[in-house]
Amino acid sequence: MGSFLEVGKEYRYAKTKDPAPETVEDLANFWHVTDTPGGKRAMLEAGINGIAGIDAVDGKRRPAVLIRLSHWKFGTVETPWHDHFHQDGAGLRYYGDHKPGQRQRVGTTAGNAVLLAAWGRQLALVGGDRRVAEPLLIFSSVPGTGQRRGKQKGQVRFDGVGLIRHAERVEQGGGPDGPVFPNYAYEISLVPLENGRLDWRWIVDRRNPELSSEQALTAAPRAWREWVEEGRPSLPRVRRPKAGSPEKGPKNVSTSASGETAHVDPAVSTETDEAGPVRGRLITEAEVLAEELFERLEAITAIAGTDTVGGHELHDALGLLDHTTSVVRSTAAEPVTRRELLLWQLIRDGALARKVKALHGDECQVCGLQLRIRSGTSSQAAHIRGLGRPHNGPDELANLLCLCPNHHVLFDGLAIYVDPHGMVRRTEDHAEVGKLRCNSAHEIDEVHLAYHRERCFASD
Ligand SMILES: [Zn+2]
Repeated sequence: MGSFLEVGKEYRYAKTKDPAPETVEDLANFWHVTDTPGGKRAMLEAGINGIAGIDAVDGKRRPAVLIRLSHWKFGTVETPWHDHFHQDGAGLRYYGDHKPGQRQRVGTTAGNAVLLAAWGRQLALVGGDRRVAEPLLIFSSVPGTGQRRGKQKGQVRFDGVGLIRHAERVEQGGGPDGPVFPNYAYEISLVPLENGRLDWRWIVDRRNPELSSEQALTAAPRAWREWVEEGRPSLPRVRRPKAGSPEKGPKNVSTSASGETAHVDPAVSTETDEAGPVRGRLITEAEVLAEELFERLEAITAIAGTDTVGGHELHDALGLLDHTTSVVRSTAAEPVTRRELLLWQLIRDGALARKVKALHGDECQVCGLQLRIRSGTSSQAAHIRGLGRPHNGPDELANLLCLCPNHHVLFDGLAIYVDPHGMVRRTEDHAEVGKLRCNSAHEIDEVHLAYHRERCFASD
């Protein structure tokens, strides 16, 4: 018999953490339902609890993030912010774990880093990348009754499965005397669940390294699978709170002291379009595209600001790994590709890229050209073996070349290659272009050059 988490149902979260009994003190046992044979317990000790990532057959993934809302704690030093569900039941606003007086950069605290990385993966443009994205499992602590009166951690209510629709940096203040501090606020959409319940086997499967992300989708809620397939348009839109009309939480918590002092977004328009359904749909699609583009840029800014997420992980998180090569090769002029290209160019200029360009003084390793621009000189860093699927090249100096834009395009487009003797040649007729300009401080891995050559000579 499988285990299910039911929306709205309360579960006993006992200190003993014994998964054996189905019920504890008349309540369903949280540890029983969420038991993962051979895996560590899924915990709700903090507000944001990432289940440890695994190295699965098709790559790394985080199985899930468990979120616990603690309404009763609002206004305390420990929890100065106020998370709340939106009245339409479609989602919630959840605050990250930055606290007053914390010196570290906002976004780098354990919980914010976990949620920002999850957001990045959930923003992935292609279904293959969305498969990897971790779901958020939302719980609320509920005050105990009877014997457990006052024992707040003792029981939790399952509220559903969520996806981050939007995240933003906010300034929060703890009240008249409280300090103002930065944090992230997350707009989370709740995914509709069949029969209002979640099959825990989905999470067990996502924790199983023997299963690919695709295989682990079998037990996922249908709405989640649809989202993996179609992306955002499959989800109901989350309405943001209107300026001056804060929404009420479900637990009679006063929202006038939401603890947030700035950044109120205008509500998303829900007016119907009179010019007809086609135009209406186009406008909706355009809005979704614009929103995605904007959010992706915000995500880049937010995730790049965390020390906990490396450059490679950032690119991976944003689903933009393939594009040193695939975008240039792609002849399909679909809008997604153009957006990806634009965004990729914005973020690819990471620390390693700057390093390889500095090592060569912005001189192209093929032709020696050094472009002069008003602010100095300019060149491009090219990955020899593309990052991410399907090439899986490493993000390291030995896998980079410093090239001028022309030779970057020719190299990525497989029109030129570097032979085993360091000679750059045209793929077409193997004619010499020139000796690859090398630098003792920049060693290039011949294995990556060989991989690139193989692609040049592949018959497809
Ligand atoms: Zn060049």
